[in-house]
Amino acid sequence: MTMFSSCKSDNTYLLSIDNHQEMISALMAFCEKEDIRAGLISGLGAIGEATLRFYDPQTKKYVDKTFREQMEGASIIGNISTKDGKPYLHVHVVLGRRDYTCIGGHLLSAFINGACELSVVRLECESGRKFDEETGLNMYDFK
Ligand code: FE
Repeated sequence: MTMFSSCKSDNTYLLSIDNHQEMISALMAFCEKEDIRAGLISGLGAIGEATLRFYDPQTKKYVDKTFREQMEGASIIGNISTKDGKPYLHVHVVLGRRDYTCIGGHLLSAFINGACELSVVRLECESGRKFDEETGLNMYDFK
């Protein structure tokens, strides 16, 4: 089963996620296939269902919410690092609704319903992640 197709120019990939695929899973599979350990993600796409996560710094807890409707991934932006030797994605989105208002936040998952066109810049630095007690977040850990 294919999840995506891509081409490469210098250190930058164009990545098309297949229709009905889940974007974060497809990005993980892409990073594993290309062995990308650090990078930058940007793009756009048509999304039929998305789960966003809100981090409450007071309680250090996450609140997740799923939106089931057709939305425009008006801005998809993120980075790639590693955690425990595996690709670690940090992706945020702005999602445009039918009435042209937007919702946005930290993206947990998004099912494509249409096209999803991403650019991935491959970086040659090493960037792990380390859990930070103060914030309760997995922060960048540069060696
Ligand atoms: Fe985030």
